[in-house]
Amino acid sequence: MTALTASLLQSTALTPSGFGVTVPGPVEETPIEAEEVERLLNNGKPALRLPEPLEKAFLADAGPQRLRTMVICGILVAVIFNFLLVSDWLLLPDQFDLALRLRLFLFTPGIIVGVFLLSRMASPSMREWLLIIPAAAACAMNAWLCMSSTDPLAVPYLSSLATIAMFANSVVRMRFAPAAVLDAIIMLLYVVAAINMPTSQAPILIPGCLLLACTMVFTLYGCYCQERDDRLNWLLHLRERLLLQDLEVANQELHDASRSDMLTEVANRRHFDEHLAEVWERNKRDGGEVALIMIDVDHFKAYNDRYGHPVGDACLKAVASALKRRLRGPGDLIARYGGEEFIAVLSGTSLHTVQGAAERIRRGIEGLNILHATSSTHAVVTVSIGVTTMRPLAPGATTTRLISAADEALYQAKKGGRNRVVALGMDLDEMNECAP
Ligand code: GH3
Ligand code: MG
Ligand code: MG
Repeated sequence: MTALTASLLQSTALTPSGFGVTVPGPVEETPIEAEEVERLLNNGKPALRLPEPLEKAFLADAGPQRLRTMVICGILVAVIFNFLLVSDWLLLPDQFDLALRLRLFLFTPGIIVGVFLLSRMASPSMREWLLIIPAAAACAMNAWLCMSSTDPLAVPYLSSLATIAMFANSVVRMRFAPAAVLDAIIMLLYVVAAINMPTSQAPILIPGCLLLACTMVFTLYGCYCQERDDRLNWLLHLRERLLLQDLEVANQELHDASRSDMLTEVANRRHFDEHLAEVWERNKRDGGEVALIMIDVDHFKAYNDRYGHPVGDACLKAVASALKRRLRGPGDLIARYGGEEFIAVLSGTSLHTVQGAAERIRRGIEGLNILHATSSTHAVVTVSIGVTTMRPLAPGATTTRLISAADEALYQAKKGGRNRVVALGMDLDEMNECAP
C-alpha cells in the first residue's frame, strides 16, 4: 500500500497526484497511511477518536452533513420551543409573562444568531461542542421557570428537561463526548431546581429524576453507537477510495509503460503511430500542415563497437533527453522509431520553421560533445536529420507518404555527408539542404 493524502472536505472527489489522493480544502492536506486505516479496521473496535490525521479528515468529511443537521434542528427548535408557551400557560400561569419574554425575545433570536455563527465561524469539532450551549440554555430556562413558579404543576413540568436531552442526543445526534457533558449539566440543573422548588414534592421529583436518567442512558448509548458506526463507515469508505486510487495509479503506470520506450523514456513506436494518426486527422479538418523530423545517430555501429553496448545505451539516453529538451511544444511528440533512430511529429508548422528547429537539434546533439573517436567524419557523436511537411488535404497525401518523405530526406542527409539537416517539402516538391 502507498502513503496517501485524504480530503478534509466532505466531498470525496479524488485528484490523483503521484501516489496520493489530494482534495483541496480549507485545511492543509495531511498524509494518511493506508496501513493505518487497515489496522484500525482489523482492530474490530473502532474508538470514538481516530489517530491524527484521520480524526481531522473524518471531522472535515462529516462536517457539511453535520452542519446541515444542526441548521435544520436549530430551525426546528426556534419554532417548536415556542409551542411550550401553551404548557407554560397551563402549568406555570404565574410565570407566563417571564416565559413569554424568555422564549420569544431571548431564546428564539439567540438560536437564530447561534445557527448563523455556527455555520460561519466554528470548526467542525468546535461546532459539536458548541451545541451544548443552546441545549443547556433551554434546560436552564425551563428549570428557572419551574423554580420560580409556586404552582404545584411546576413539579411534574420539570421533567420537560428529559425531552431536551432526548432531542439533543437523538435528533441532533450530538457526538458522544459533548452529549455526555450536556447530560451531566442537565442532571445538575434538574437536581438544583428540584431542591430549590418552592413546592418540592419528592414522590414526583424522584421518579422524574429516574425518568431523566433512563432517557439519558438510552439516548447516550444511541449517540455512542451512531458515532462508532459513522466512524467505521467512514473508514470503510476511505479504504475503498485508497484502493481505487492505488488501482488508478497502477493502471496509469501500465498505460504509460505501454506507450514509452524503456531505455530512452521517450514515446515508443506505438504511441508515435497513434499520435501521428490523431494529428493527421486534426489537420485534415483544419487544413494545417503536419511535420516530421527523422533523426538518426551517425556511425552508431562503430560507436558501439568502440565503447561497448552499455556506453552506447547511455549515449542514446543522452541524445533522447537532448531531443526532449528541444521539442517541448504543446502538440510535439518525440518517439524512438527504431534502434538509434528517433522521430518527432510537429503540428501546424511550416517547413521553414521545422527546418530551423531541426538545425537547432542537430547543433544541440553535436554540442553534447560525446566523444566518438571512431567516427569517420566527426570526433563527436552527431546526427543526420530528415525533415518534411505535408498537408493531409493535399491530393494523395497519406501518413505513409509523409514517413517515406522524411526517410528520403534522412537518406539524402546521410548521403550528403552526415551531421546535417535535409528538408523535403512535399507540397513544393523541393529539397533544401542545411549543412554545418
Ligand atoms: P549510419 O551513420 O549510416 O546511421 O550508421 P550506423 O552505424 O549508425 O547505422 P547502422 O544501421 O549500421 O547501425 C545502427 C547501430 O545501432 C547497430 C546497433 O548495434 C545499434 N543499436 C540499435 N539499437 C541499440 C540499442 O538499443 N543500444 C545500443 N547500444 N545500440 C543499439
Ligand atoms: Mg545511424
Ligand atoms: Mg539507423
